[in-house]
Amino acid sequence: MTISMRSLTGRRPFLTAALAIVALAGLVAGAITAEPRAKDLFGAKKLPAVAAAQSFGFYSKGCFTGGVAIPMDGQNWEVMRPSRNRRWGHPTMIALIEKLSRDAAADGWPGLLIGDISQPRGGPMLTGHASHQIGLDADIWLTPMPDRKLTTQERENISATLMVDDKTHLVKDRLWKPIHTKLLKRAASYPEVERILVNPGIKKKLCDTVTGDRTWLRKIRPFWGHDYHFHIRIGCQPGSPNCKGQEATPDDDGCGKPLAWWFTEEPWRPNKNPDAPKARDLMTMANLPKQCQFVLDQPDADSAEAVTYRGGGVPIAARAPEPDAPPPIAGNAGGLPGAANAFTATPEIGIPLPRRRPPANVGQ
Ligand SMILES: [Zn+2]
Repeated sequence: MTISMRSLTGRRPFLTAALAIVALAGLVAGAITAEPRAKDLFGAKKLPAVAAAQSFGFYSKGCFTGGVAIPMDGQNWEVMRPSRNRRWGHPTMIALIEKLSRDAAADGWPGLLIGDISQPRGGPMLTGHASHQIGLDADIWLTPMPDRKLTTQERENISATLMVDDKTHLVKDRLWKPIHTKLLKRAASYPEVERILVNPGIKKKLCDTVTGDRTWLRKIRPFWGHDYHFHIRIGCQPGSPNCKGQEATPDDDGCGKPLAWWFTEEPWRPNKNPDAPKARDLMTMANLPKQCQFVLDQPDADSAEAVTYRGGGVPIAARAPEPDAPPPIAGNAGGLPGAANAFTATPEIGIPLPRRRPPANVGQ
């Protein structure tokens, strides 16, 4: 919004302009408070929408149906911060985490501590994260899973290990182990994974130390934060014609100029307006893809239990209620039929095939 000085007459144009700005700001604030915020609507949903798995919109502006939960515990993982109820994702994302947990254990990583994935129906979150809205993002801690089951309280309170020095933006060498590199390489090895976000210090560590095959470094993308966890992003999945993908990463290893920028002052200048509301704080339903209203309106799954992933590459949940045939979604002609049964098997493509579990003592 711009205000033309010429349209504001009077002897004290600056004061008049200032008053006009205040008045306009008040109007805008009024409009925002009148319209419910999307983060409140999506943050209030405790269970996923009963419909076939489908992502709508972009990673930082969207929602999804057919979410499944990763169980709180697996042989090779534990879910952290359970009270946030963010262990939901597209079935392919959840299956991929399970597969990573097994493969990483075979590589010698004791197990995954799983951070935020998505809210049950995605959408903007009440706190944290701009992305994680369409069920295709997941945070995994760089701290290995301890050799015991953490209590609920520990899962809420334990801090992850900061791997990067605040001042130098370099990895703390005493903390970074070859097994961290192996874990990231394993995560990047899956074709579904398009990007892995890490702190620039971690990217630099990989650039400086990885020998042999470096093609996977292309997927490792430097970003602010991500210094105690890494962030896995998979691509739009089959059956989601309204999912907006991200442009492909450049073909090179990303260790050149773009990385050097992160070690200049520019990216670290203090935010001039730290208290300004973030996009997720302002978004209303009008800012999200129109299908997100449908996603909100769909009935709840039976229970969290009914839509919890069982492993083995099958996205489960026979006990979800039969939904009434939902109205067809405009612009969804190429997608799954609107009345597709909830949580029926999603297309085989992109879903990891089951593999034998490693013995229980691997990596412990
Ligand atoms: Zn993340």
